[in-house]
Amino acid sequence: MRPIRTFNVTPSLPARLEPLRKLAYNLQWDWDFGTTDLFRRLDPDLWESSRYNPVMLLGTINQNRLQEVAEDEGFLAQMDRAAQRLEDYLKERTWYKKHRKEPTPDECYAYFSMEFGLTSCMPVYSGGLGVLAGDHLKSASDLGLPLVAVGLLYQEGYFAQYLNADGWQQERYPINDFYNMPLHLERNPDGSELRIGVDYPGRTVYARIWRVQVGTVPLYLLDTNIEPNNQYDQDICDRLYGGDIDMRIHQEIMLGIGGVRMLRALGLAPTVYHMNEGHSAFLALERIRMLMAETSLTFSEAFYLAQSGQMFTTHTPVPAGIDLFPPDKVLYYLGSYAGHFGLSNEEFLALGRENTGDLSAPFSMAVLAIKTAAFVNGVSALHGEVSRHMFCGLWPQLPISEVPITSITNGVHARSCVAKPTQELYDRYLGPSWSQASPINPLWKRVDAIPDEELWRNHELCRSQMIVSVREHLEKSLLDRAASPLELAKAKEVLDPKVLTIGFARRFATYKRAALFLRDIDRIHEIIEGNGTGRRVQFVIAGKAHPKDAPGKELIRQIIHFTRDEGLDRSIVFVPNYDIHVARVMVAGCDVWLNNPRRPREASGTSGMKAAMNGLPNLSVLDGWWDEADYVATGWPIGSGEDYEDPEYQDEVEANALYDLLEKEVVPLFYNRDPEDIPRGWVAKMKDAIRLNTPMFNTARMLKDYATRAYFTCSDRAYRLIQSNFAPAKTLAQWESHLAEHWYEMKIEEVRISEPANLQVNQQFKVEALIRLGALQPQDVQVELYQGKVDIDGEIHTGVPSVMVCQGTDERGRSCYAIEVTYTVSGLQGLSLRILPKHENLSSPYAPRLILWAEPEDVQINVGAEVLEKAPVAEAIAMTS
Ligand SMILES: *Cc1c(COP(=O)(O)O)cnc(C)c1O
Repeated sequence: MRPIRTFNVTPSLPARLEPLRKLAYNLQWDWDFGTTDLFRRLDPDLWESSRYNPVMLLGTINQNRLQEVAEDEGFLAQMDRAAQRLEDYLKERTWYKKHRKEPTPDECYAYFSMEFGLTSCMPVYSGGLGVLAGDHLKSASDLGLPLVAVGLLYQEGYFAQYLNADGWQQERYPINDFYNMPLHLERNPDGSELRIGVDYPGRTVYARIWRVQVGTVPLYLLDTNIEPNNQYDQDICDRLYGGDIDMRIHQEIMLGIGGVRMLRALGLAPTVYHMNEGHSAFLALERIRMLMAETSLTFSEAFYLAQSGQMFTTHTPVPAGIDLFPPDKVLYYLGSYAGHFGLSNEEFLALGRENTGDLSAPFSMAVLAIKTAAFVNGVSALHGEVSRHMFCGLWPQLPISEVPITSITNGVHARSCVAKPTQELYDRYLGPSWSQASPINPLWKRVDAIPDEELWRNHELCRSQMIVSVREHLEKSLLDRAASPLELAKAKEVLDPKVLTIGFARRFATYKRAALFLRDIDRIHEIIEGNGTGRRVQFVIAGKAHPKDAPGKELIRQIIHFTRDEGLDRSIVFVPNYDIHVARVMVAGCDVWLNNPRRPREASGTSGMKAAMNGLPNLSVLDGWWDEADYVATGWPIGSGEDYEDPEYQDEVEANALYDLLEKEVVPLFYNRDPEDIPRGWVAKMKDAIRLNTPMFNTARMLKDYATRAYFTCSDRAYRLIQSNFAPAKTLAQWESHLAEHWYEMKIEEVRISEPANLQVNQQFKVEALIRLGALQPQDVQVELYQGKVDIDGEIHTGVPSVMVCQGTDERGRSCYAIEVTYTVSGLQGLSLRILPKHENLSSPYAPRLILWAEPEDVQINVGAEVLEKAPVAEAIAMTS
């Protein structure tokens, strides 16, 4: 039956309890144990059954219970303290105020992501990407950054996982009840729903807007599940990563284009647009279209203006991880933009193509994002390098090391992932600012002052709590599938609170190799059973496979079957329905965190960071973040960063390395106890993990990096370009097109080198270049000497550029550039020359993707010639990455 009228009924609270409403609707409770304890205190069972959802809790709690606590002075005092903390928190903004000296007017950074993992009661994330996005918002709020976020609100969210009796993953899609979640529906002044419309072929799709308040940061989520949208359009916000390629395009249009329109409808005019992964890259098209429609800007003027404030963070190290759309589909859905821009179809499609001449090439969201961004980064140092290789085709003439894709290593939000008793311990010994303190803060020295006994007892407590929680979780899921009493009885006995516990939890993508540790049945048996020494080992495993990923599901089944067949079901436990809550319990209660992806497939990985913050050593392949951590002091490296051709062989070698480490290093260190039963060596490693990894792999550090390296500069540049009625943007666009037109008319005619072929280390010599700039002026270009070792293939691969200084023009009208240089190492060294564009409003000299190298065949080289009397001494240019 369809209702004739609907109401949004919100919890009815006694007046004295009104602060609870404010607390429930600001997600800051997620990382404030004082507040979550308050909700638990209201009704512990309901708190759990609601999946830790305070809005649901307040909406369904027995009214008598509310009356009761309204007169409970202890409760009221706790509530008032929590409300005061929230109020104080919202007023802070200290880091931003202190570090942003002259913010641009109305500075605002819009952060777009397909998924956000903030807290377990909002299942609109699938894994690491979403949790990272959630942590990004939390830390942006902690630091007081003026950030707003944009995403989609999925009706079904991501699936809940359970296993059938055979160990095969089953998916259940719980319907998200928006009205009982910490969401505000955005409304017009007259009380009606605020809506936006987005054009799709032949129709407009409408969306309403829900806001999640994450501390000071609003996250706006679009929801198409409304009339008058047809069923298909309502389903755009049905499932995260659901549907076919057409549905994916529909979703990405809603996220990118709808997101830009939504910000406008909310009265926001962000100065920076940050694309977290390529899903949202269509936002560039809509921004350019809007700029053109509302100002007198041409396409290229609007393009450079849009680009000046856009950033792109890539998260995948493999081409298969990138969204690619067939060109005909892109034209079908977005061809109208070619018309708006005054571009031909091929010119339009070129925005998403690496090789613009390949007319059959698919349209890549990552390429669109890169081409329309002023700042591009990978998510670990290693991933930055991999990304430079992946996208170097966009800068075919640039040495790989200079491809302008840098890296900002991921982090995790400390207050969200460290267990409560452990946070209290850190608060006591380090002071409460530990959760945001930088690596050089002297407070980290105080980690040594934490008594070993206290740290160890605390960790044992976390392990026991995890085991209790795992048993309950298993029991509940067995009850759900009506398992036998025998199975239920067994679930109550899994794991042993005294045994070394290895944790492994992440998405079950095959490259993560969850079953690697089972490769040698006999050996793992012996390790688990302690080889007759009583030093046993147990495993806690969790993770979801993508619903369409049969090989991933097969891995889960393989683990379940193995444990049953081998009678190891007490020692290897698979915890179903991995989510943020399960993750938090596991990273706190395990002893070691295992990670064995196929290098370099794990762009960063973050669960190991969460474990490290809880004091866990990591045992991991040198991939992602771990490659740049102190992997000797704070854990153990599996292998030493080798890359393999043959995956079978790699599995063999790395499984053996894992077994060796477990037998020779991990197990002995854990079980080597002093008379007080404390493993001193182990505790020392825990302390190193806390001291070194907490400040480094923390979203507080990450957000500071994004702010100082990108948000501030992008905001400044974008603001500069719109001054005087867009005059600088227009100048930049005209300059760039002039440059592109005349770039290849330039000619490096002659190079004079003061010394012959034999030089000594540190011997100075002069280089002078005579260049015909043609239609360009000296101020348009940067002429660089590029020197370095000549490799076996006769090329300089890792050279160092230094800027040559213009000395004027010679009698034949050629511009003279000069420099004085030396070589600091011996061997076969070479030099070359190159020209790059130069303009004050360019985000980098690489942005126009123009570079002119001196061609050995075309340049007249004059050795030992008379060169200028005085030339400036080389100063190496700082590299981008
Ligand atoms: C942290 C986290 C992840 C990411 O883990 P990786 O180690 O990066 O694979 C995935 N899912 C959940 C629920 C998490 O909390």
